[in-house]
Amino acid sequence: MADEAAPIDIGNFGKCCGELKDAISGEEFEPLITVGEDGVLYMSVGLIDLEDEEPGMVDHPMFFCPFCGSKVQTPEEVQAKAGHDDEGDA
Ligand SMILES: [Zn+2]
Repeated sequence: MADEAAPIDIGNFGKCCGELKDAISGEEFEPLITVGEDGVLYMSVGLIDLEDEEPGMVDHPMFFCPFCGSKVQTPEEVQAKAGHDDEGDA
């Protein structure tokens, strides 16, 4: 039962379709869709230049699967997991 160790705990994400699962758990590339330490599914929307550092990724919570359109999480879930809201848009 434990013959395949998952490097990343993708939780319930990736159940909607194989494309999303592959995108999250890609082993031959650096996934741009990842599950954060807080258990929130994030997608990278761009690169940001940081002075004296390597470019950083700009992540944004992903609410719908880009491949099959399934809802993967709600803003409420993201907020509860991330435990903060610094956007302030109502
Ligand atoms: Zn999907």
